[in-house]
Amino acid sequence: MRVAIFGTGYVGLVTGTCLAEVGHEVVCVDVDEAKIRGLEQGVVPIYEPGLEPMVQANHAAGRLRFTTDAARAVAHGEVLFIAVGTPPDEDGSADLQYVLAVARTIGRHIERPVVVVDKSTVPVGTADRVREVIAAELAARGVEMPFDVVSNPEFLKEGDAVNDCMRPDRIVIGADNPEAAARLRRLYAPFSRNHDRFVFMDVRSAELTKYAANAMLATKISFMNEIANIAERVGADVEMVRKGIGSDPRIGWHFIYAGAGYGGSCFPKDVQALARTARQHGYVPQLLEAVEAVNDRQKGHLFELIQRHYDRGEDEGVRGKVFAVWGLAFKPDTDDMREASSRRLLAQLWEAGARVRAYDPEAMDEAMRIFGQRPDLELCPSAQAALEGADALVIVTEWKEFRSPDFARLQAALGDAVVFDGRNLYDPQEVEAAGLAYYGIGRGRSV
Ligand code: NAD
Repeated sequence: MRVAIFGTGYVGLVTGTCLAEVGHEVVCVDVDEAKIRGLEQGVVPIYEPGLEPMVQANHAAGRLRFTTDAARAVAHGEVLFIAVGTPPDEDGSADLQYVLAVARTIGRHIERPVVVVDKSTVPVGTADRVREVIAAELAARGVEMPFDVVSNPEFLKEGDAVNDCMRPDRIVIGADNPEAAARLRRLYAPFSRNHDRFVFMDVRSAELTKYAANAMLATKISFMNEIANIAERVGADVEMVRKGIGSDPRIGWHFIYAGAGYGGSCFPKDVQALARTARQHGYVPQLLEAVEAVNDRQKGHLFELIQRHYDRGEDEGVRGKVFAVWGLAFKPDTDDMREASSRRLLAQLWEAGARVRAYDPEAMDEAMRIFGQRPDLELCPSAQAALEGADALVIVTEWKEFRSPDFARLQAALGDAVVFDGRNLYDPQEVEAAGLAYYGIGRGRSV
């Protein structure tokens, strides 16, 4: 099928590439000229395992093309995807300006019946607004044309996005017109061969499904962080508790890790936007607001541990100390630092007069873009280099390469011989046996 995708970010680029991979003819369109120029030369602007060779192969095969020319993209597609960003507005609700801008563009250019697919995460009722905007543009042109607007929320995870897209758990399609639903079934059939992965529903339920999924996952994380904070006060170890509850299949092993708080471009904004939708409809979303509040507090927790440790000493606390920070991305296997816990920690350390030597396997360019050159930040080429001249080590992102360091070497390298493990990667006894002080999250010893 002939597909056009508006927005060539994490979702648009991965979706477009996977659709091309199974034989569809895809045109990806973006307003960012530099991004499109790069993609035409095979330069993938994000780090996503397996994506670059797939982009290059499908581009070379002519099934995946890139353009900034929206009219050309609309003329190409019988299915038009909206995959642009929906960042939080000032009041926490989703900012729909990019989605509605694409709707206007589509309305201005369509010349034949199309299915418009909303893949961006958007509040319930957005498909209706997209439909209205397209209809208004058609009316302004004096054109009458049938078209459909379908909701097809995306569930891919950054860091495993290609795999999620090629082998989705489910393909949710919210369509009020059975013909539009059938067209999407044909489009996605290659991804649903092993067993039926389609879940068809009405448009509003599909829109809410995406928020419900992210809010549930965020809730699990905040729940575990709450248990961790209790564990610190009662002398229990949340890692033991995690193992004790994960074996219950009703609870399960996924997403029950305590840590430095959730970040990224989705959970924070989606929990906020769902809470905002609830309030707009006269409902007080107590649980969602607590999930957000717990996470916000948790992002400051590593710094509290650091401060508490240094306030016990005789010198000037954190001021003048040098911290090696391992991990800047909001989670492993991505270079994305949107809402990352590392950003809060670095701001707090700098505020307190400390210096930072940071390393992340993929997010160094992103860190440079965000922070620029500053005297209290050294972006280091390796985990080992970050330790040079550092007093303490802080782990913020659980990249695999941080999992088994040589603790004796750490002990020798760190001026104050202390490790703050924001992701509970290490066994406290093993770290302490090497002569280091250890702080984890919820490990019964820090309050
Ligand atoms: P992104 O910021 O990486 O990419 C958005 C792209 O849209 C940018 O390249 C931007 O230049 C482009 N754009 C903006 N206006 C445009 C226009 N008028 N025409 C064409 N392109 C335009 O965003 P993302 O992370 O891919 O997220 C997109 C949507 O998908 C959001 O609603 C997000 O919540 C949702 N989502 C994201 C993820 C994820 O893991 N990133 C997962 C599921 C759903």
